[in-house]
Amino acid sequence: MLYNLAMIKKLLDRIFKPKNNKPDNTRSANAESTQQLQSNSKPNSQSNRPVLGTKKPARKNTELSKHQASKSGALTIYHKTHQIDRTLLSSGAHKTIDGLQKAGFEAYIVGGAVRDLLLNRIPKDFDVATDATPEEVNRVFRRSRIIGRRFRLVHVLFGDETIEVSTFRGSHLETDGDSKVADSGRIIRDNVFGSILEDAVRRDFTANALYYDPSSQEVLDFHNGYADIEAGVLRMIGKPETRYAEDPVRMLRAVRLSAKLGLKIEASTQAPIAKMADLLQDVPPSRLFDEMLKLFLSGHAIESVSALREQNLHHGLLPMLDVVLEQPMGERFVMLALQNTDDRILSGKTANPSFLFATLLWHEMLAAWETFQAEGHHTIPALHMAMTEVIAIQAEKLAIHNRYTATMKEIWGLQPRFEQRAGKRPFGLLTHPRYRAGYDFLLLRCESGELPMEVGEWWTAFANAEGDERAAMLQADTAPKKRRKRSRKKVGGAGSTSGATASNTTSVNDSE
Ligand code: ATP
Ligand code: MG
Repeated sequence: MLYNLAMIKKLLDRIFKPKNNKPDNTRSANAESTQQLQSNSKPNSQSNRPVLGTKKPARKNTELSKHQASKSGALTIYHKTHQIDRTLLSSGAHKTIDGLQKAGFEAYIVGGAVRDLLLNRIPKDFDVATDATPEEVNRVFRRSRIIGRRFRLVHVLFGDETIEVSTFRGSHLETDGDSKVADSGRIIRDNVFGSILEDAVRRDFTANALYYDPSSQEVLDFHNGYADIEAGVLRMIGKPETRYAEDPVRMLRAVRLSAKLGLKIEASTQAPIAKMADLLQDVPPSRLFDEMLKLFLSGHAIESVSALREQNLHHGLLPMLDVVLEQPMGERFVMLALQNTDDRILSGKTANPSFLFATLLWHEMLAAWETFQAEGHHTIPALHMAMTEVIAIQAEKLAIHNRYTATMKEIWGLQPRFEQRAGKRPFGLLTHPRYRAGYDFLLLRCESGELPMEVGEWWTAFANAEGDERAAMLQADTAPKKRRKRSRKKVGGAGSTSGATASNTTSVNDSE
């Protein structure tokens, strides 16, 4: 009997006794803020933890103690201190956490969402981290699928909402998992699973390594991210040089997140960027595209692009943008476009990535178009050649997805049609599915000084006019009637009027 009591006491001690061992790279400089946070906190309470084991057998005590141990390297921040309002979580986020916890797994909201909630921002999406493997997550949620190669993840679907669930990552130096590191130190594949402690070390910034359990309302903080957020600092976890070598995209993330969140990049996190910028050349173009898209659609594109330029990170990303930004007219156009995108995003509207990339590359497109015409190509074939060339050169560094390039070409291809304000053509343009994007693009060209303002104003008035008013606005049709001449020649022939060969602009947009 006595023996049993001792055993139970030992077990309880193991479970509930706070441990002092911090992760190796916890900075002593933060000890003060750590203590302060703990003194603000209420005593540890496990009462909010969900009942374990409805779908899966309840965890044995040993598993429970393992779970408790996993938290031991973390600072626990209680609701009284962090004040996160859990009703701000999406219903999908709640359901995912509940489902996993009821099945006996650990599950936390992690990454950008916790950071944003602490900064009083509404998260744009919610990511969940768990100790369940992708297959186990997949079994818990009927509507879910395993995705990814570099990182295997599970997408759990709730109506329109998708929650991304990742299994705690272990060290990529382990040999028993599926991981691959290039000679440069860049991580190519990363599917080694580990503990929450290891997972936290693998994240990029301290502010991104916070784990929020909405059931207990506790935030687990392994790297003093809470204190860094309070101090407005973006700090890399671990040695910044090593972390950038593992994944150069982290340099772009530093710039983007600091611009978006108003956090200052901490000195040692900032220092290596200038000399390591070239490593971005090794990153696959499709990954760069995804990251740049996030940057441009962050609502802080102007600050982000300015910061990229200051830090010399823009070279090689958008090679053509370098050139464009060096010409006053090009710079003005791009900056107007970015401002326009920021305004839309910040006022809750959507921004079309195709439109944005069309603006970023427009002046380069214009230059190539002129070159092809100077070489003797007709206007419209020259335009098509220029579009193809500009996108192909861009794709070597940053591959714009095909679904966007098709629309970019449409927007560009519509531009010559806005210069025709006679006959039936303006009526046809108004009904074009991409008219609105083409028109917005035209207005930017006018505002930047590339075209007279009068052209944009004419189109605004034309679109708003009704019935006969429109016809009265048309200009005299002085264009030679090439079409009729050619069709007479082709009587009985195949009748090709393809935009690639004809010099008549009405076919430009049928080319996709
Ligand atoms: P955003 O609000 O723009 O989505 P985010 O930090 O949530 O910012 P995500 O790309 O959604 O960015 O990534 C989610 C989390 O995954 C991050 O908060 C971070 O913890 C981790 N993460 C993302 N990219 C990296 C990376 N390159 N290296 C290490 N950790 C990363
Ligand atoms: Mg995110």
